[in-house]
Amino acid sequence: MFYADYMVVQKVYHCNNEILEWKWSSDSELMPQPFWTSVFLIDGLLVDAGAPGGVGDLRDFIKALDSNNAVEKCVITHNHEDHCGGGRMLQEEFNIPVFASKQAIPLLKKEKIYPDYRQMVWGINYQPFQAEPLEDIINTKSGKYCFDVIATPGHAPEQISLIERKHQWAFIADAVMPKYQMIFGKDTDIPENISLIYRSIKKLHDFTEGMDKLLLFTSGNGVFKGRSFLKDRIDEIKSMHIKIHKLRVEAEERRLSNTQLLRYILKKMFKRESFIGTLTRGGLSHKNLIISLLEWPIDCDSS
Ligand SMILES: [Zn+2]
Repeated sequence: MFYADYMVVQKVYHCNNEILEWKWSSDSELMPQPFWTSVFLIDGLLVDAGAPGGVGDLRDFIKALDSNNAVEKCVITHNHEDHCGGGRMLQEEFNIPVFASKQAIPLLKKEKIYPDYRQMVWGINYQPFQAEPLEDIINTKSGKYCFDVIATPGHAPEQISLIERKHQWAFIADAVMPKYQMIFGKDTDIPENISLIYRSIKKLHDFTEGMDKLLLFTSGNGVFKGRSFLKDRIDEIKSMHIKIHKLRVEAEERRLSNTQLLRYILKKMFKRESFIGTLTRGGLSHKNLIISLLEWPIDCDSS
């Protein structure tokens, strides 16, 4: 088991200081690059609660906020350890109510067992807690902002996104990735499903129709401008889906076994498995993305 001793913290302001992003990464020398997780603060509403390894840093951040920025409540977007690590600390030490979707609540109450590479990146000793159920709409402290809560499963079954229609902000956490090259497979506790991800991105695209100044805030992967970000991901997944199923037909014509078929498609699509695929022993890999695309029938909802 690895554990990082040194942590890195950054604070970033967006939209005329109305949104404060707190980014956290371990700076363990064992990691090939920093992996960031983000907590956003908008008018007293905290979106997510960081990783178990960052609880001490999150505590310092909350303590240092002035009265204008004091946290009134927290919403957890999903159950992964890099989003809910500080939930119990917020409740117990600051008396901050923490909300989550009905699907996430029982998961947040459980101990978490996750592979050593994720312990290295996000730290250990997750503290389970009892979250409160989230309504369909959530208002911020002053009433200035009002968020629609949208179910966006795929990355995680309980994943939600928060959309502020008037200001055209979408907090999408991990619901959409900047590029689809890898996926967590079914042999881990993160069974990402590409067909559900695709449907959720389409749902976000439909929901944000007419928002020509849309800003999309991801967790640690940056801020993206415009609905074209969503449309590009829709096109990207659709094209990969079609390509993979064409390669399957080719492989079947060559009478390849299942193992050979996967290797054939992997080579044609990505040349070889990625470094991260090897590092995570296939947990987060090109291969799992290919399997999820193959399990999604071509004639079903890819238009
Ligand atoms: Zn996640």
